[in-house]
Amino acid sequence: MAQTTPNHTQTVSGWAAHDSSGTITPHVFKRRENGKSDVTIEILYCGICHTDIHHVKNDWGITMYPVVPGHEITGLITKVGSDVSKFKIGDRVGVGCLAASCLKCDFCKQEEENYCDEIQLTYNGIFWDGSITYGGYSKMLVADHRFVVKVPDSLPMDAAAPLLCAGITVYSPFKDHNLLESPGKRIGIVGLGGLGHVAIKFGKAFGHHVTVISTSPSKEKEAKERLGADDFIISTDPEQMKSKFRTLDFILDTVSAHHSLGPTLELLKKKGTLMLVGAPDKPLDLPAFPMIFGKRSVEGSMTGSMKETQEMLDVCAKHNIRCDIEVVKTDQINEALDRLARNDVKYRFVIDIAGKP
Ligand code: NAP
Ligand code: ZN
Repeated sequence: MAQTTPNHTQTVSGWAAHDSSGTITPHVFKRRENGKSDVTIEILYCGICHTDIHHVKNDWGITMYPVVPGHEITGLITKVGSDVSKFKIGDRVGVGCLAASCLKCDFCKQEEENYCDEIQLTYNGIFWDGSITYGGYSKMLVADHRFVVKVPDSLPMDAAAPLLCAGITVYSPFKDHNLLESPGKRIGIVGLGGLGHVAIKFGKAFGHHVTVISTSPSKEKEAKERLGADDFIISTDPEQMKSKFRTLDFILDTVSAHHSLGPTLELLKKKGTLMLVGAPDKPLDLPAFPMIFGKRSVEGSMTGSMKETQEMLDVCAKHNIRCDIEVVKTDQINEALDRLARNDVKYRFVIDIAGKP
């Protein structure tokens, strides 16, 4: 496992964490030359996902330092490999969580490469050439064109960036559960953060009744008035939770920290689904009785495929869905990570990487 390979000749400025203190500092590193199937991207913006915190702090015990986080990337193509016909110089593009997959297995062939056994991620992964991948907290990225999507012209590059992870991660379960074209369902969203706020927007765009299940009373007014949620309940208030017993068809849990699934399961109707996308470091409490009595199920979902990601961006353009963001400069990354860890952002930080006027 090499950090660089002989063709890693391009010097790039970025920002990295070097240990589990999670502190980000400027970091110069190398990227590979633009290969035949690669495109080079000048990065304009990169969202700050809670997964970045899990990585810089080594919450999951898998971090290879130095880690250059960032998998909500938008930018402009500056170079195109000879085998690439889909993109041209100047195209507005996005890169999400995926950097490579085997391209041969059934999942890859059926455009579900996000479930390939050999999936490699945009940062803290091992690319085909054996090098460690570095993410979007950097000025420039070389990406295989199969893992790049087009950003529709109507979407602003800053407010579109978080769609590359937060957006697709909540879109894919909606699609899997036929919630795109069957309006009128009652949907719950647990956790109103980066993923949660996009999920409310999709839920409303697809014609559903959306209940937010939150620990933060201060988020209620905006959730209803700005994001369009129909109901808002506080998960730590047993009376409010009881008022929604057996009312929801589908719940998306985006919580980043340890919590019990029992009270949330009770909100589902018979045979309802609790979909986990949040990824706490420790196992969650999953009591059997709420599953048994309601014949309910718990599922998980991992980002989305490249095909779904393009489709999701096009759907966002059609419905004018964009993220609610706070843009920060590159010297504010640590402050933004601290505030995100304290649940103090509405609803996604986006780093202005290029710093253009
Ligand atoms: P985020 O912006 O921090 O949002 C998480 C929300 O969870 C918070 O806003 C908060 O909402 C709630 N929350 C936080 N601590 C809590 C606690 N102790 N108990 C109950 N609720 C709590 O994070 P994010 O970027 O949306 O990411 C959320 C999770 O999804 C992370 O674990 C991330 O790694 C994971 N993720 C998974 C995938 C995937 O492919 N499955 C993709 C991207 C991210 P309230 O204030 O409303 O309670
Ligand atoms: Zn993410």
